Amino acid sequence: MSEAAKKDLRSMNLDDMTALLKELGQPAFRAKQLFGWVHEKQVQRIDEMHNLGKALIAKLEETCEIVPFALERKQVSKDGTEKFLFKLQDGNYIECVLMRYRGDMSKQRNTLCISSQVGCAMGCTFCATGQGGFVRNMSAGEIVSQVYEVNHQLAEEGDTLPVGNIVLMGMGEPLLNLDNVLKAVALLNDPQGQQIGIRRMTLSTCGVVPQMKTLADKKLDMVLAVSLHAPNDALRSSVMPVNNRYPLAELMEGCRYYQKQTKNRISFEYALIAGFNDQPEHVQQLKTLLKGLDCHLNIIPVNPVANTAQFSRPDRKQVAAFVKALQNAGLNASVREEKGTDIDGACGQLRGKVIKEQ
Ligand code: SAH
Ligand code: SF4
Repeated sequence: MSEAAKKDLRSMNLDDMTALLKELGQPAFRAKQLFGWVHEKQVQRIDEMHNLGKALIAKLEETCEIVPFALERKQVSKDGTEKFLFKLQDGNYIECVLMRYRGDMSKQRNTLCISSQVGCAMGCTFCATGQGGFVRNMSAGEIVSQVYEVNHQLAEEGDTLPVGNIVLMGMGEPLLNLDNVLKAVALLNDPQGQQIGIRRMTLSTCGVVPQMKTLADKKLDMVLAVSLHAPNDALRSSVMPVNNRYPLAELMEGCRYYQKQTKNRISFEYALIAGFNDQPEHVQQLKTLLKGLDCHLNIIPVNPVANTAQFSRPDRKQVAAFVKALQNAGLNASVREEKGTDIDGACGQLRGKVIKEQ
């Protein structure tokens, strides 16, 4: 069997492994052992799976692989946020960002912001990933590998807390790679794997309404974050081409449907851009738009990205005033704690840099 045709173990769930081992003439209990090595212990090589026996290890090495997922670069921010650039088997790069929340023991957590696609087809004009265009979907194995490899890094650094929260807010539009994303979510949630609660996972979308409804129908307890960024269609379409396809009325209908199906509060992301979407009339438009929806607005001062000089970040005072005005209008709103801005914290920025350097 050629290298390219080897099966990717990290993309396999228990059913896939049961079928694989049956094909290899192995007893069923081996599937659970294999699953534990791959998804709980997160081994990086097949020959680490001691209790499978030499013969099976040799067979697995012949037919399967743990796809290499190489750490290419790591940047550490002053606030402890770390950004990882990984090189995939085919030479593409993806990024993820680790945010450490400390303080009270009970509140300590390591949250990983992960990618779901190499690049993105949605073309939002303020986004570094969007500027680079779409390359390909990531496999379920590549999606979970971000968590497993960062866990290895954490262990090396002596951090005993593995990744316990996931935000699908890295590169790519997760709803356009929904099958692989949902498989990865199930693998990360598996009681025999990392056991990360679905409630500890957030999926962020730019608003692909039909797939929002598909996700809603799964009735998962996942937090949905919607990238809103503008309070009316004219402004939103000017920076987010997806709005031409699914304008605000449809997006809001999709949000209401998600809420009806899951009973979950929805988070809206709103990148605040000076002079663009931060005016008093925008507060009123947001109030009308979000009426009746149980939601929270995360206000994020826009991250400056190369070639987007037109998007300037409002100063601290302006941000605070906008949030206050939203609150006075009866909306749940807060400023999103900024992390890692000194290390190109906005997703897609580090990859963009490395590609340019080559
Ligand atoms: N494609 C999905 C998820 C990945 S983007 C989505 O768009 O929701 C993650 C978040 O970062 C989104 O809310 C996106 O709009 C935001 N973002 C992208 N570029 C940004 C920038 N320059 N400043 C602030 N937020 C940005
Ligand atoms: Fe894609 Fe999200 Fe960036 Fe838009 S903001 S281009 S949807 S990754």
